[in-house]
Amino acid sequence: MSSPVRVRFAPSPTGALHIGGARTALYNWLVARGTGGALVLRIEDTDRERSTDANVAQILDALEWLELDWDEGPISQYERADRHRERLEELLASGAAYRDTATGADVQAFRKENPDRGYRGEPTDEAGAAIRLRVPDEGETVVPDAIRGEIRFQNRLQDDPVIARADGSVLYNFAVAVDDSDMGITDVIRGDDHLSNTPKQLIVLQALGEPAPRYAHLPLLHGPDGKKLSKRHGAASVQELREEGFLPEALRNYLALLGWGSGDDETIMSTPELVERFSIERVGRAAAIFDPQKLRWLNGRYMRELPLDRYEEQLAAHLARNDPEAAEAFAAATPEARAEACGIVQEKAQTVVEIWPLIAFLFTDPVDDDKAWRKVMKPEAAGVLARERETIASVEPFDAETLEAELRAVIESEGLGAGKGLQPIRVAITGTSVSPGIFESLVALGRERSLQRIDRALSRLADAASPVSGDQG
Ligand code: GLU
Repeated sequence: MSSPVRVRFAPSPTGALHIGGARTALYNWLVARGTGGALVLRIEDTDRERSTDANVAQILDALEWLELDWDEGPISQYERADRHRERLEELLASGAAYRDTATGADVQAFRKENPDRGYRGEPTDEAGAAIRLRVPDEGETVVPDAIRGEIRFQNRLQDDPVIARADGSVLYNFAVAVDDSDMGITDVIRGDDHLSNTPKQLIVLQALGEPAPRYAHLPLLHGPDGKKLSKRHGAASVQELREEGFLPEALRNYLALLGWGSGDDETIMSTPELVERFSIERVGRAAAIFDPQKLRWLNGRYMRELPLDRYEEQLAAHLARNDPEAAEAFAAATPEARAEACGIVQEKAQTVVEIWPLIAFLFTDPVDDDKAWRKVMKPEAAGVLARERETIASVEPFDAETLEAELRAVIESEGLGAGKGLQPIRVAITGTSVSPGIFESLVALGRERSLQRIDRALSRLADAASPVSGDQG
């Protein structure tokens, strides 16, 4: 029987969590949840200058927003320095590691003269010497990779790597191997920029007498232009994607299917379904293309199908982060008004960011969109708007269906289409020319407030038409 799966996500807190890192975190999470295993969060903070508390907080915040939870940690790698040193001492004692005075330049010079074999140092007692790991001369180190199959490295070609500085502080590859071993990690899933580190870590584990985990190196992410993903391709960090209004469930869906064997990154798959169906073996070997347009499309589909309470929660959280005044106005409304507003905008908004501008008119005064006013509120709009006002004042029942039937009858009798006939109402009640469906918008705003706003618009139209105010203007 195989032991329970233990995976880890091991970010270096040197900046924000980027899309590639989010994908690595997600794949580890999916494997843990799909197998009933455990996910360990390890913060690789040994670079003391760049590993700031703010960066750690940012990564935790991004993971929490993505709703990727972990079972153990966060564990600071830096705080495990004593343990790393302890294991280093074992290797020094057994002779598997040794002090050597050679510098990087010395090793390079050696390689130049001996292109067919790796550097092996001369053990010394000198206190100022760095510590190297002895690589076997014979045989090969095999990386069993779930995505690429077995990758073989000839031992005689590997240099004896430096694993600790003269002062005994260990280097990256040593710390990772000790940590993976101590934490009982069974599967290392990480970006394939780490592939060249893997044989070194395997040799450390072998020297320590510890079993090797299985590995899966994820192909890099590229932009739609086929180039390595970078800032050029738009939002790069999870927080930026959040502020652009993407939903965590849509991002999880998109990232999970990105680079899956089927090549189908446009399928809606709920998170429980992803957990059930995900398998690391199905990740393709080729670089995956991160396409913001596809993510946007997928996000739009999620936005339309999101349960209303979740919809409201996402909007409220977005406003709280970006627009405290709007957040307050939204929170002050009744639960019914909030739900109704979300209900009428749901078909229309593709991202969370797009929601508020479309429904703000329900919670605050109409906006002042001068361009929309000038385009729609021509002098001849006054006539039809006045007739529509009477319909809105008297229609029974005051619901979207009846409003639609009666207002359409009005514009038809005026010989107008929906554009010229209905846009004036929209500009009157919202201040602008884009809103949810006009009939639903009228109902959500309510008869009284709709009439007030239309009256205000009518008097502004009348003012504009009067020669007196024109002279004054
Ligand atoms: N700390 C490394 C990084 O952020 C990951 C190391 C690993 O997964 O082994 O790239």
